[in-house]
Amino acid sequence: MLQDLYRKLVMEHAKYRRNYYKLDDALIKLHYKNPTCGDIMTLYLNVENDLITQAAFEGEGCSISMASCSMMTELVKGKRLEDVAILRAAFERLIRDGVIPTEVDLGDALALEGVHKLPARYNCALMPWQALDKAMLNISQYPKLLEE
Ligand code: ZN
Repeated sequence: MLQDLYRKLVMEHAKYRRNYYKLDDALIKLHYKNPTCGDIMTLYLNVENDLITQAAFEGEGCSISMASCSMMTELVKGKRLEDVAILRAAFERLIRDGVIPTEVDLGDALALEGVHKLPARYNCALMPWQALDKAMLNISQYPKLLEE
């Protein structure tokens, strides 16, 4: 039952993508590609002090990747960089280890938990978050929580 709801939510995000537009005055614009599946995206971000004020994307790819982009931009918009780093780590654990986070709320992105059983699709789900990592390399306030 929950799986059905999650599947519907993923398909819905893939079809009606949130924050799907070109952000013309974006501080950060980054092209990113998932070579395993051919998914591509452009990530647009505006960051003020330690806050992501705007997040948008354009791209093409499989449903998992596009849903994940839609969910990720929804999740990080308006959040502090410190909290974004925590969400990012929690999402990677959800996908790679199948761990449902109890401390943080991944919002709709939780619906991608089923990807854990599909290792070939890990990169599809993680693509927007990896793009975000790359985008943050030049933002000094972003915590280095991800280097393990
Ligand atoms: Zn894909």
